[in-house]
Order: sequence, then structure tokens, then C-alpha cells
Amino acid sequence: MPLQIAVIGAGPSGFYTAASLLRESEECRVDIIEALPTPYGLIRGGVAPDHQSTKGVSRVFAKTAQDRRVGYYGNVVVGRDITLDELRARYDAVVIAAGAPLDRPLGIPGSDAAGVYGSAAFVGWYNGHPDFRDLNPDLNTSAVAVIGNGNVAVDIARVLVKTPAEMADSDLAEHAAAAIHQAPIKDVYIIGRRGPVEAKFTNKELKEMGALKECVPVVDPAQLPTVIDGEMSDHERALREKNLATLRGFADRPAGNEHKRVHFVFCSKPVEVLGGGQVKGLRMVRMRVEAGRAFETGETFEIPCGMVVSAIGYCMPQLAGAPGDETSGVVANDDGRVSDGLYVVGWAKRGPSGVIGTNKKDGRTAARQILQDISESGRTGGQGLRSLLSKRKVVWVSFEHWLQIDAAEEAAAPPGAPRRKFSRIKDMLAVIGKPTAKLLNPAG
Ligand code: NAP
Repeated sequence: MPLQIAVIGAGPSGFYTAASLLRESEECRVDIIEALPTPYGLIRGGVAPDHQSTKGVSRVFAKTAQDRRVGYYGNVVVGRDITLDELRARYDAVVIAAGAPLDRPLGIPGSDAAGVYGSAAFVGWYNGHPDFRDLNPDLNTSAVAVIGNGNVAVDIARVLVKTPAEMADSDLAEHAAAAIHQAPIKDVYIIGRRGPVEAKFTNKELKEMGALKECVPVVDPAQLPTVIDGEMSDHERALREKNLATLRGFADRPAGNEHKRVHFVFCSKPVEVLGGGQVKGLRMVRMRVEAGRAFETGETFEIPCGMVVSAIGYCMPQLAGAPGDETSGVVANDDGRVSDGLYVVGWAKRGPSGVIGTNKKDGRTAARQILQDISESGRTGGQGLRSLLSKRKVVWVSFEHWLQIDAAEEAAAPPGAPRRKFSRIKDMLAVIGKPTAKLLNPAG
């Protein structure tokens, strides 16, 4: 009997795990269970819509999904349609690859005001994620503050200032394109509580900010150190030097005709969202950075803005049946092993860091552990899953169904764009002729 393995989540960490299992064992069966009808997780819902080459990896994942040993169950929410314990009863091993889909709370006074959004919600909105389809952010402002110095902050700033022509070959969701491109945004502030040396954006993403049609990066040269202090590897030093060189280039750049600006504001921490119930600005405190650590100086200033996006990292919800850290939601694990027959990979294992390829190693580790720990199968696998889902009238989406949705999105693409995304689950299900009625709280 082949081993029956369930992977929860069809993002990069889930697909890399499935691919490793198939490579390491001719005889295993892998079922991928995904909350959305659509596969690929952050490739579809997180990677910036104008970074199409990054999304190319989904073609590799599609090959994995079409292997005869793999089943895909989209539109099935673990914790709603089926519990983790029910899955564990049907599979020899269950791998949690559910990512970190929630925003880390900003947690400063005023951060619950209208006009403050987390990056998971905001990026999900412009990427057509159904959970955030109705976010309707109020973009009627000339200035936006993006908090955080990671790649997500840079992605958000870039998407807000690129012209419609610059986004024409992207898959920016239609509703978001309409809102962003008629917004009067002129100034975007990217705010880092530490300095340019500590900033986490990668150089490729930072450089893009200097190659925009109507937008110029603004950097105060006084914020750029001449040397990089502290102990670090040569590799790390080289990466930081590169970012500094790019930022110096921005600082030296003569003013052009661009009418939008992205301001890099370093060593500054937001301490309050101003404006009462509606954002009017941020109160900031200037920071002093010593040996990589930031300390408040006591000096304050304000940044007037009508919208705030907090891009300060992600966390995950607790999954009943999986022991998790209360704050981050990261599943308690020993290099991926959680308990008998239960494993974790990706951001749910390590926290929200690293690029897509970083998940490969997790997938390989989990596959090897499973094949080492479990040699005999006594579970029903997909057969048991299908029977429970049918009993509960859960409408699941197969990979063939997804390919139909995919083809419909591609067929509807505006000129030059790769696809026109469906952003509502009912529209996705309509393509494949599935009813939309679901039992939201199955009793069993
Ligand atoms: P990130 O790289 O960890 O950056 C988070 C930023 O938020 C850091 O600058 C951090 O500052 C700041 N921050 C955290 N808490 C804060 C607070 N309370 N107040 C102010 N600032 C705060 O996270 P991310 O940008 O969300 O990206 C997640 C991962 O996805 C990263 O590994 C990233 O490289 C990857 N990613 C890659 C790409 C790409 O390759 N193109 C695109 C998007 C995302 P400190 O450093 O001081 O903590």
C-alpha cells in the first residue's frame, strides 16, 4: 500500500514538499488541500503583479500537480470543512504548509483608524485574493506611508506609483487597477525604523525604484553612512554595500520631470497614527542605530498622509490540533517534525522570511523525515477525504477544474496582460459549473 500524505496549502512550500516526496518515493500518494479554488499561494496572491518572471515557477508546480500520484482539493478549508484531526485519521502523514497569511499588528495608538491597512490585506486586494476583494481602500489622498523596509514595502510603493502603461503587462486585479490609477497619489514614504544598512530589501527590488517612468526616489544623503560598521560575513557586507550604492545613486540624482516621489525615510519609527478615526498623518520618533539596534532619540516629527500600509511582516492563525506560538502562530516543531505523523514546512515552520526558493530545503527535509519515520500505510487517503467532503456537501475544485479557471482568466486577459483574474470564489466556481452553496459549519 502506498503511503498516503496530505499537504495543507498549495503555495511554494506545499508544492516543493509534494515534489520532493514524488522524487524520493515512487509509491507515495500526495493530496494537496487548499483553502482557495486557485493554487500557488503567494505566487498568485503575494508576488507583485508586475513581477511576472517570478511567477513562472508555477509552471513547475503545475507539472507536480498533474503527476498521477497527486490529488488537488481546492476550496477546502482545514478548520472549517474538515479538521486537522480528521485529516490525520485519513493520512499516514500530514504536512502543514499553510504559510503566514495574517498581518502582524502595528499596535500603536490610532492603528485601528480608517485608512490603515496591513500588507497582507492590501497586497491581497491588488492581487485579486477573494478574502480581500472588498477591502476598498480609500486611495483619495496625495500621500501614503508604507511602514517597513522589506521587499513587501518596496512592492507596495512601486505598485502605487507605476503608470497604467508600466502595469500593462502585469496581472494587477482589475478593481485595484481602476482605483490605483485614478488616485491622486504623489508622495509615498517608505519608513524604516533602522538605517539603510539594516534595510531588508534586496538590491534588485530597490533598484527598480530608480527606473520608474513618472516617479523619482528621494533619499537624504545625510542618512547614508560612508562605511558599514560591525561584524558580518563578506557576503552580507557586499549585499549591504550594493544597497548603499544604489541609495547613493538615488540621493545624487538630479531632479527630473517626474511628478511622483518615493521618499526613503530611515531611522524613524511611527509611534502614533494621527487624525482620530481617519488617518491624517503619522507621528514619528527619530531613532539612533548602534550595532544594528535602534534606540529612540526623543526627537519627533510628523508625516502628513491619508493612508498607511503597514508592511512589517506576517503571522499565522492557530490551527486547532497544531501547537503554535501564540504571537507568531509558528507551529512548534523540531526541524519540521511536530508530532507523530504531523510535519510543518515554509513560513508556518520558520516564520515569514526568505524567498520562494528558500522553501525547497524545507520540502526536501519533510519528505525525507516522512519516508524515514513511516514505512507502512494503513490509511484511506484521498478515498476517505472525498467521502467525508461529499457527506458534508463541500464543493471541492480539482486541478483539472483549476486549469479551466486558468484558461478562462487567460482568455479574458486585456492586451499585453497575462490574465484577467477572478477575484470572487463564486465567479471561479461558475467557470467550472459548480454550485456555490457550502456548509460553512459542518456538524459532521
Ligand atoms: P521583512 O523583510 O522581514 O521586512 C519587515 C520590515 O518591517 C523590516 O524592515 C522590519 O524592521 C520592519 N518592522 C517590523 N516591525 C516593525 C514595527 N513594529 N515598526 C516599524 N517597522 C517594523 O518582511 P516582508 O517585507 O514582509 O517580506 C517577507 C519575506 O518575503 C522576506 O523574506 C522578503 O524578502 C520576501 N519577499 C521577497 C520578495 C522578492 O524577492 N521580490 C517580494 C516580497 C517579499 P526591522 O528590520 O528593524 O525588524
